[in-house]
Amino acid sequence: MRKPIIAGNWKMYKKFSEAKQFIEEVKGLAPDADKVDSIICAPSLFLQPLVQATEGSTLQIGAQTMHDAKEGAYTGEVSPVQLKDIGINYVILGHSERRQYFNESDVSVNKKVKAAYEHGITPIMCVGETLEQRESGATASIVENQVAAGVAGLAEEQINQLVIAYEPIWAIGTGKTATAEDANEVCGVIRKKIASLYSPEAADQVRIQYGGSVKPANIEELLGMEHIDGALVGGASLEADSFVKLLEAG
Ligand code: PGA
Repeated sequence: MRKPIIAGNWKMYKKFSEAKQFIEEVKGLAPDADKVDSIICAPSLFLQPLVQATEGSTLQIGAQTMHDAKEGAYTGEVSPVQLKDIGINYVILGHSERRQYFNESDVSVNKKVKAAYEHGITPIMCVGETLEQRESGATASIVENQVAAGVAGLAEEQINQLVIAYEPIWAIGTGKTATAEDANEVCGVIRKKIASLYSPEAADQVRIQYGGSVKPANIEELLGMEHIDGALVGGASLEADSFVKLLEAG
């Protein structure tokens, strides 16, 4: 059985006081760590104090992006060594907004995924098609290619730890959710791709989240699907009440 993983992606929202208050409200309500992995991916600026604020709780703090180098002259960037040093164990990589606005590509995502493993950070690797690609029937091939490129060079024992987030771009922040069946179908395609690249055992272990307008009203149906092991949630992770409901569904 794969353990559900529910991750909030705060993007560039919240002031520090709001972030702190949210964590104070939610941290005592997160489920047991052996039942659900509960994560908030916060802006880099807030990571260290939020890690401290969650000490002793099952709520974990993750990052939204990172550089692939250990250190260096990369103004404005944050390295995996720096993240690990302050107690970060998860990082979202290759989110569609990073691909769209910050020139991330399958190649750079792959470098970051490898760097995350090198430093003991679990990547949440995002893949997903545009509306145009979906309408032209290219979803499966696009997503398969993104997965294959993203994991290139990883060993099977690394794949076992991987989290993949399937996020159809047309469903992000739009209120349009893929139907649970459509989401499950693509998550199944991803699992099959991992089976063909590695092994059926690896495919069985890899956790696949769905993301794109997940909210308390639709999470149960999504999580009820065979291939969906969790959710990556933007908008509905910003309010403590709704995030707690999402965790409870996990
Ligand atoms: P959304 O965002 O839940 O607001 O659609 C999901 C994401 O971008 O990870």
